[in-house]
Amino acid sequence: MRLRVLGCYGGELLGHQSTAFLINGHLLIDAGSVNSLGGVDEISKIRHVVLSHIHLDHIKALPFIAELLAEGGRGVEVFGTEETIGFLKQHIFNGSVWPDLSRLPTPENPAVRYSTMREGGTVIVNGLLVKAIPVNHTVPTTGFLISDSLASMLYSGDTGTTDRIWSEANNAQNLRALMVEVSYPNRLKDRAVITKHLTPHLLTEELKKAGLKRETWIGVYHLKPPFVDEIRKEICGLRMDNLILLEDGDTFET
Ligand SMILES: [Zn+2]
Ligand SMILES: [Zn+2]
Repeated sequence: MRLRVLGCYGGELLGHQSTAFLINGHLLIDAGSVNSLGGVDEISKIRHVVLSHIHLDHIKALPFIAELLAEGGRGVEVFGTEETIGFLKQHIFNGSVWPDLSRLPTPENPAVRYSTMREGGTVIVNGLLVKAIPVNHTVPTTGFLISDSLASMLYSGDTGTTDRIWSEANNAQNLRALMVEVSYPNRLKDRAVITKHLTPHLLTEELKKAGLKRETWIGVYHLKPPFVDEIRKEICGLRMDNLILLEDGDTFET
């Protein structure tokens, strides 16, 4: 699998892009930003978007991507849980915040096609298996286990302390990468707990449950832009060999 980090922050400010990861050029995991892509050609290759939850930093670019893809006559298939798809219909594509792109440009060939995923269920998207794993956030949210025949990657979505995704990490075959959120510095633990996010210290506690093998690297993302420097120092202070801070524009091959 080819992983391209289009945006890896929990907001869009100070030159940072909000969360979106592109797999094999066609599958977008969350849709916070596609500004890292070079042009229309690259955006046009996106076929499917898998949404972890409805928060703005994960969906902001979706209407614009869908409209561009509709011009090419294809539109985009959007996967999410029943709750997330329901929120999209109710709060975003509702004719007020944005036009109902599930009926435009035409009801027969719309810009957005919805596909519902069950929590714990797996869908096959262009040869990739994508399993939705519920995590612990302020709105219904899932992380994802993405696998091909050779390797798997685990994406935490936004989450506070949680359990199920770590047993998935334990059981996953050939888990090469874990992308995991950290949003606030250690001194803002209370805010992290209320908003159901992680700090560097909470991350170390969570990773004890994951039982990761040496070949699995850990990519930290979703830093809130106002605290980037502070969180970076705390993450570096953990001195974990297999842990990196992701950056917008990074690419990886599993
Ligand atoms: Zn977020
Ligand atoms: Zn969120």
